[in-house]
Amino acid sequence: MSFYVNDDYLYCDGLKIKDIQEQVPHSPFYLYSLDQITANYTAYETALEGLESIIGYAIKANNNLAILRHLRKLGSGAVLVSGNELRIAMAAGFDPEQMLLNGNGKTHPELILAARHGVMINVDSEFDFEHIQQAARVAEKTVNVLIRINPDVDPQVHHYVSTGIKNSKFGIRNERLHWFLDRINDDSRLNLVGVHCHLGSTIKKTSIFRDATELMMEFIDEIRSQGFEVKYLNIGGGLGIDYERTGEAIPSPADLIDSIRDLLTSDVGLIIEPGRSIIGNTAAFVNRVVGVKTNGNKNFIVTDGSMAELIRPSLYDTYQHIDFIEPVDAEIEAYDVVGPVCESADFLGKDRSLSTPHEGAGLVVYDAGAYCYAMSSNYNLKMRPPEYLVDGENLVEIRRAENLEDYMRLFETTQ
Ligand SMILES: *Cc1c(COP(=O)(O)O)cnc(C)c1O
Repeated sequence: MSFYVNDDYLYCDGLKIKDIQEQVPHSPFYLYSLDQITANYTAYETALEGLESIIGYAIKANNNLAILRHLRKLGSGAVLVSGNELRIAMAAGFDPEQMLLNGNGKTHPELILAARHGVMINVDSEFDFEHIQQAARVAEKTVNVLIRINPDVDPQVHHYVSTGIKNSKFGIRNERLHWFLDRINDDSRLNLVGVHCHLGSTIKKTSIFRDATELMMEFIDEIRSQGFEVKYLNIGGGLGIDYERTGEAIPSPADLIDSIRDLLTSDVGLIIEPGRSIIGNTAAFVNRVVGVKTNGNKNFIVTDGSMAELIRPSLYDTYQHIDFIEPVDAEIEAYDVVGPVCESADFLGKDRSLSTPHEGAGLVVYDAGAYCYAMSSNYNLKMRPPEYLVDGENLVEIRRAENLEDYMRLFETTQ
């Protein structure tokens, strides 16, 4: 584990986080462990040994350029949901042939860009298919496509992150499969290379992936019986992590791959699209306590970090573990940990049993690597925080703090 307590102080690999907090000029900030990123990626690589595969890191989970460069060096591909993600993936040096563009509302410019660079594209609907055809024509390229199928397997997660059920906004209607196959057949610029599904996120049971794989293999059989060569099964991302930090047995990448290995035939390559399970547990969001207050029968710890920097608890009512980075031995109370933003939904955690901290005490939100910085905003004109990376015993700034001048510059071009 890259984050561990020693003598009541929290460490990230070789560094004491309190020392970092005292050394850096900004609060709050994000802190990543390079070793943990490497370990998480390598776990997938090892799990996939013996299979033809692409690990497509889902850039939307965390798009820090330094992190992308590191994952690319480890051999990762990239899963994209926008044209700008394609551009940043190119800047990070990813191979376009190991990239896949997803989405239910891909625009013409995005599709043309993907077609030009030879990025694989997921077909999501009838209109999306027509747009991909047009993009292939404009770019004068052959486009490798996958069909996004809704296996209608319930991932048993929060409904906001459930994406592969029948009424989801993603993927094609399965009854229409032959409509798509006929049209792909008729268009020499489109080359069907696979089928895709993405069930949802924060999934904690391998049986869910197994059920989906069984169904998807049936689709592959059916498509092959129509004379297509299907090279890839893409089972998407979605593996959960242990946000509760109770030591609950969450399946590892090896558990996931082993649970479906016997269903895969030797002529099918596997694409997986992990985001959270690669980057989620590699970071902590480091705050300072501004003060402690009580209203009615509620106690609050007010921190300088807020929903503007980390919105997952407010958005999904999810749990991320919170603790101090230094000794705090006052009375333990039930606290809501809240930020300074003017919204009652602005909280980082509710009903946490915590010691009563002194002002300035360091407090972390764990497992803040995925969908945290990437979802941050300037609400209340809070500026996006800096990101630091611990590389063994070295601290590296991998993104500077945003400042008000950055923000004011956006108004310079308007009349
Ligand atoms: C978001 C997303 C992923 C990544 O999901 P994680 O839960 O972060 O692993 C993969 N594929 C698609 C299509 C996605 O939309």
